[in-house]
Amino acid sequence: MGNDLMAPMTRATLMDSVLRSYVAQYCAHLHDGRYAASTRRIYLCCVAHFAYWITTERLALGKADEVGGRQFVACHLPHCNCPTPVRRVPHEVTAALSHLHEVLKSAGVLAASPGGAASSDPSWPRSTVTWISTVTWIRCAGLPPPRAGNVSRS
Ligand SMILES: [Zn+2]
Repeated sequence: MGNDLMAPMTRATLMDSVLRSYVAQYCAHLHDGRYAASTRRIYLCCVAHFAYWITTERLALGKADEVGGRQFVACHLPHCNCPTPVRRVPHEVTAALSHLHEVLKSAGVLAASPGGAASSDPSWPRSTVTWISTVTWIRCAGLPPPRAGNVSRS
C-alpha cells in the first residue's frame, strides 16, 4: 500500500530518514481517508521533503511536530534549494504534514505540543496561537528571542 505511489527518490528519502518506521502507517492513514492516488502521491512527496530537511538538519523525531512543520513551511520552503524533485507548495506541505502529525500522535511518537494544540484545540486562546506564530517567525528570521513583554500573550 503506497509503494506504487512513491517514486524511487521519494521512497529512498523516506527510508533514509527518522520517519522510515512510520511510512507504512502514513500510507495507510491516507488510504483509509480515501484520498485520491494523485493526492497521496503529492503528500508523500511533501513528507519526503520534510524528512529530507529533518535529516539534513539532524533534528530528532520529536521535532517533526507542528512547530517543526511550521518552521519548515515558513523558514525552509521560501529558501529551499533541496535537490529536485521536491514539493514546495506551502498549502500542500501543510496539509501533508497535518496528516503526518496525526500518524505520529496515534503512534505515540508525538504528544500534543503547544503548537499542535494551538492549531487544533479551540480551547487555546487566539493570543497563544499568535504568540507561537511570532516566535516561529522570529526563529526563522534569525532574530533574538523575544523578552518578556516584547510579544503580547494576552
Ligand atoms: Zn527543501
